[in-house]
Amino acid sequence: MPVTIGIPAETFPGERRVAMTPRAFEMFAKLDVQFLVQSGAGDAAGFPNADLQVKGVQIVQTRAEVFSASHIILQVRTLGANPEAGRSDLDLFRQGQIVIGFGEPLTAAAEYAELARRGVTSFAMELIPRITRAQSMDALSSMATIAGYKAVLMAADALPRMFPMLMTAAGTITPARAFILGAGVAGLQAIATARRLGAVVQAYDVRAAVKEQIESLGAKFVSVELDTSQAEGKGGYAQELGPDFYRRQAELLTGVIRQQDVVISTAAVPGKRAPILISRDMVAEMAPGSVIVDLAAERGGNCELTQPGRTIVESGVTIMGPVNVASAIPYHASQMYSRNIATFARYLLASGEPKIDLEDEITRETLVTHAGEIVNSRVRELSAPKAG
Ligand code: NAD
Repeated sequence: MPVTIGIPAETFPGERRVAMTPRAFEMFAKLDVQFLVQSGAGDAAGFPNADLQVKGVQIVQTRAEVFSASHIILQVRTLGANPEAGRSDLDLFRQGQIVIGFGEPLTAAAEYAELARRGVTSFAMELIPRITRAQSMDALSSMATIAGYKAVLMAADALPRMFPMLMTAAGTITPARAFILGAGVAGLQAIATARRLGAVVQAYDVRAAVKEQIESLGAKFVSVELDTSQAEGKGGYAQELGPDFYRRQAELLTGVIRQQDVVISTAAVPGKRAPILISRDMVAEMAPGSVIVDLAAERGGNCELTQPGRTIVESGVTIMGPVNVASAIPYHASQMYSRNIATFARYLLASGEPKIDLEDEITRETLVTHAGEIVNSRVRELSAPKAG
């Protein structure tokens, strides 16, 4: 019997991505798999039904049809990342069904508990381990790449200046100065994009290891006198460093930020609120017309003034707090995401049937709920009632 994989339309407000695209379906060509796609699921991403209807794919009219016949459901946003609209799917899930997608597992323990109660086996794409073997499944990196690129375009659009240096008969235009705070995947892509547009770029990260990467993209690494020996934690991520560290860091960066036309901040620590590194006073010292794009907005923001989902102007400085940025480039975001999720789903189906092998690192680390329980140790720790 073939394995049926369902792709319901996304229901999170403003979400334009879709979990599967034509090329990703082709990755299952050699397996006994059939797909059910809810009609219109790819419309907002630029993949109409006609494009999705490739070999092995059936378009169905209702969400209920997708859920009732599928062994596996693929989504961009599962319940944890779509807690309001996603609730109406709860009654559609069946015991033992597998759901794979983003779900914000480190903050959405209650939603995962709900899925566990319904006997749903869920995997969170955020938890794909950052190991070489799983690189083609790393959806966080894919989405961060898109966000880093888009953030620079947003800044360029809002800035009353041009990015490149131009020598014209009407005089010389000086290049824009851009500072990228946090040089992970999004930050590095922002550096590359700002450089391509001709800005003079500086960047900083607490992980000293990224200095070379910053420089190889043609940006200057800003060095500040801070002890960052504790900055790097498990899996190449930053660790939380405490309010005193962040206060001191902000002080040291004040002089750098004051000189910028554009600041793109991406500093984040997995599972924690983003550190506040740009204070109200620092904003007041920036030249009017400057732009801050705070990519950490969804996690509280790196700037004290950021309002998630809004653009505000304070002391003449435009502060953007965009959320769900990858969804603003839905075609390529879906193409990349679908490749990541398809690679992962195919991995689980290596034996022809979905296999939950807890000995396997990629499966174990990504699995959140199974057999009625939250089984992921990181998610369990966060959802356990705190003593005292
Ligand atoms: P992220 O979104 O969690 O954080 C963004 C950046 O903010 C990180 O570079 C982090 O060091 C930085 N940061 C945190 N606190 C800061 C502070 N106070 N000041 C300045 N910067 C601060 O991270 P991410 O972009 O998802 O990934 C980070 C790293 O993970 C990568 O650069 C890489 O080393 C590793 N990674 C590995 C793989 C792989 O091996 N397959 C894939 C992707 C990422």
